[in-house]
Amino acid sequence: MKTYQQFINGKLVDSHSKEWIEVENPFTGEIIALVPKGDDNDANAALEAASKSQTAWAACTPSERAGYLRQMAVLIRSNRKELARILAQEQAKIIGLAQVEIDFTADYFEYYAGWARIYEGEIINSDRVNENMLLFRKPIGVVVGICPWNFPFFVMARKVAPALLTGCSIVLKPSSNTPVTTFEFAKLVASLDLPKGVLNFVSGSGKTLGNTLVRSKLTDMVTLTGSVEAGQEIITASAENITKVSLELGGKAPAIVFADADIDLAVKGVLDSRVIFSGQVCNCAERAYVHKSIFDKFIDKFVKAMQDVKYGDPFDPATVYSSQIDKAQQNKIDEMVVRAKSAGAQVLTGGRKADTKTGYFYEPTVIAGARQDSEIVQKEVFGPVIPVLPFSDYDEVIALANDCEYGLTSSVFTTNINTVMRSIKDLKFGETYVNREHFEGMQGFHAGWRKSGIGGADGKHGLMEYLQTQVAYIQF
Ligand code: NAD
Repeated sequence: MKTYQQFINGKLVDSHSKEWIEVENPFTGEIIALVPKGDDNDANAALEAASKSQTAWAACTPSERAGYLRQMAVLIRSNRKELARILAQEQAKIIGLAQVEIDFTADYFEYYAGWARIYEGEIINSDRVNENMLLFRKPIGVVVGICPWNFPFFVMARKVAPALLTGCSIVLKPSSNTPVTTFEFAKLVASLDLPKGVLNFVSGSGKTLGNTLVRSKLTDMVTLTGSVEAGQEIITASAENITKVSLELGGKAPAIVFADADIDLAVKGVLDSRVIFSGQVCNCAERAYVHKSIFDKFIDKFVKAMQDVKYGDPFDPATVYSSQIDKAQQNKIDEMVVRAKSAGAQVLTGGRKADTKTGYFYEPTVIAGARQDSEIVQKEVFGPVIPVLPFSDYDEVIALANDCEYGLTSSVFTTNINTVMRSIKDLKFGETYVNREHFEGMQGFHAGWRKSGIGGADGKHGLMEYLQTQVAYIQF
């Protein structure tokens, strides 16, 4: 079994704590690695390294910093197969999707490297004669990045790439469920001549090591991708030092299928958005609303399509999804379905833990007859389970879709351009997909409304999260 070290101040080092986190392959149940269960000493050592290195790093040109991002992309590409294999093992992600994540991550480093010569300040018209107002964009400083387990490699890059490009230094904490690919990346990064301290990886519990990272006076910004509960704790912990937070949290995305939709396209779009990675994706379709005139036809096709979904070994190319991340997640999904049934909903297919020899599988599940105000329609399931509700008219369905504490993604299926444009105007979500599955591009802006988050990631606006402004008033 492999053991890993923390990556602090440019070196792979033993943790101050003598405790370990066991990383389980959720499909086989095997313990595949031990990573340090780091403590406050590790957190503080990483922050001090990040703090000491940041001013010199910010003084490099953006193009110099971009050079390191390009080298990271090259390292990932040269090790793409092995990284995908490890990722598939540590979280039971099907190998095809794991490979997409690894390759997308390399592209992501390269994409942000390209921003070095693009982001800029502004010259603003002054109210005074013979005065220039110059707006500079400067790095925020020391960033703490906290990652979830569902896209651990990509979300790592989503924080590291814009932070380093803008001249910030960063301490990144992977999830205790899925730290292995991140530490494999740390070993690759250790071979670069990256200035020591600008990039640090420390593992440990969110409530202890994570909390210390967030509360420290050395931390200038915290970027978390995770649950609403973790986001709330981080807002509280960041209050003392008024530390900037950027939060990408949970979702409960509605998929709306209008009467004029291409039904087969809608069935495929909703299915793909529900079962990808066993339903454990923040932007997954979590509830569907289908016009009553096509409801029965849609349900017929959709239930059959869900029944045909093959789940199993993540390394079998025919597998669509594999195990849930752990037993707790499998139990949570099952308890939500049980409560939905007791509240009067009907399970049209699935509705139970799958009977497999290994892993924590949940059957692809379609639920009808759930009430709009019920838990299964309002709370994130994070599994291959979807309630489908009928609607009568446009105003009703927009109100139902918007009636939710989350506001991350949404989708509409229609062949009417007017309905497309109206829906985009009326839906209160950070992303709206039209006639396609839910999955964002790196040049967009992934940002949740309401409890789905504050700020966002990707593209120009994601880069701006890591920059603060300074305006100079210059008389001449
Ligand atoms: P989680 O909130 O349990 O953990 C996320 C990370 O936060 C972990 O590294 C954890 O150790 C850390 N953490 C928890 N409490 C903390 C605290 N008080 N202080 C500091 N760190 C703390 O989430 P998860 O189970 O890993 O991920 C699933 C959740 O993430 C889902 O709700 C999903 O929707 C969301 N998610 C959102 C996006 C997005 O882009 N909006 C992307 C992926 C996942």
